[in-house]
Amino acid sequence: MVMSDVKRVALVTGASRGIGRAVADRLAREGRHVVLVSRARAPLDDAVAAIRSRGNSASAISCDVGDPAALTEAIGETVRSLGRLDILVNNAGITRDGLMLRMSDEDFDEVIRVNLKSAFVACRAAARPMMGNRWGRIVNVSSISGRIGRAAQVNYCAAKAGLIGMTKAIAKEFATKGITANVVAPGFIETDMTADLPEAIKEEAKNITPMRRFGQADEIAAAVAYFTSEDAGFVTGEVLAVAGGMGM
Ligand code: NAP
Repeated sequence: MVMSDVKRVALVTGASRGIGRAVADRLAREGRHVVLVSRARAPLDDAVAAIRSRGNSASAISCDVGDPAALTEAIGETVRSLGRLDILVNNAGITRDGLMLRMSDEDFDEVIRVNLKSAFVACRAAARPMMGNRWGRIVNVSSISGRIGRAAQVNYCAAKAGLIGMTKAIAKEFATKGITANVVAPGFIETDMTADLPEAIKEEAKNITPMRRFGQADEIAAAVAYFTSEDAGFVTGEVLAVAGGMGM
């Protein structure tokens, strides 16, 4: 693996639990300083304490990524206090599932706001400091649902497909500026997001996954780690499904 002599700063949204926490742990283990962002303070502090207890480096900012001003300020604060921002992982996400005929405008807009618009806002704020260093790594966490569609998730699928198109546009805009932008598209992963799914849906999820199992958050973190590595400098605009073969 190619190593850098600067301590890179990574900001990960939705980092207090699940996939985001695994990504933060992994990037910290790889020597990044990781800024963990999500709303509830206590789990954020726990996650930072766990990273520091392993001798790695992290801090936290409590912020609702659905609030563009707050998210822009979180990125500004990171650059002011740490002097740089090299890696941005837009991972925070929510579901508000329901059949389309019964879906409210609020549930549609909220999922777009938190899952898609937040990534645009964060990329816009992070691009300038990255351009200043002529080095940047953006990873947007989409979903296999954004590729193949899923009933009762028109809002979520729209947001996750939107992330793929947006990431490719960003990849093209910044391709000559040292900044890459890629997507990781998880399949069903064992986290709080899937914990409360009815047993029948969990069974169906396994049945449509060729590997017949849920993935682990660490398996997503490994893919994010690759895209954010020094080694991945010639890889941009790509979508890597980590989904046990679903949607291949
Ligand atoms: P999770 O366990 O529910 O964790 C979600 C994280 O996002 C938490 O840290 C949560 O903390 C944070 N968050 C939620 N709303 C936020 C907001 N408005 N502002 C800031 N932070 C917010 O979810 P996960 O399963 O790890 O999913 C992570 C990402 O992977 C999501 O984008 C999800 O769509 C995607 N994904 C997951 C799966 C899966 O099967 N689990 C599959 C495909 C894609 P707070 O609530 O404290 O803010």
